Amino acid sequence: MQDYRNDKIVVRYAPRICIHAGECVRGLPSVFNVSKNPWIDVNGASDNAVAEQVKRCPSSALTYELLKKTD
Ligand code: SF4
Repeated sequence: MQDYRNDKIVVRYAPRICIHAGECVRGLPSVFNVSKNPWIDVNGASDNAVAEQVKRCPSSALTYELLKKTD
């Protein structure tokens, strides 16, 4: 499991589950870009946009969690 996070959201990616349908890279290329390293940039769109795209992953290889500040 790989984690990509900022202070608002964490996206988790399970490469063994990914079926390479490409839904993520087509739907939100500013965040999901396999030409970049790391390939997920959670700062590439709003946390809501990232979350909505993660929900469209057909294999559930992508999951997310919204983080709340506790200060
Ligand atoms: S949308 Fe999900 S299954 Fe498709 S390529 Fe992205 S991570 Fe893999």
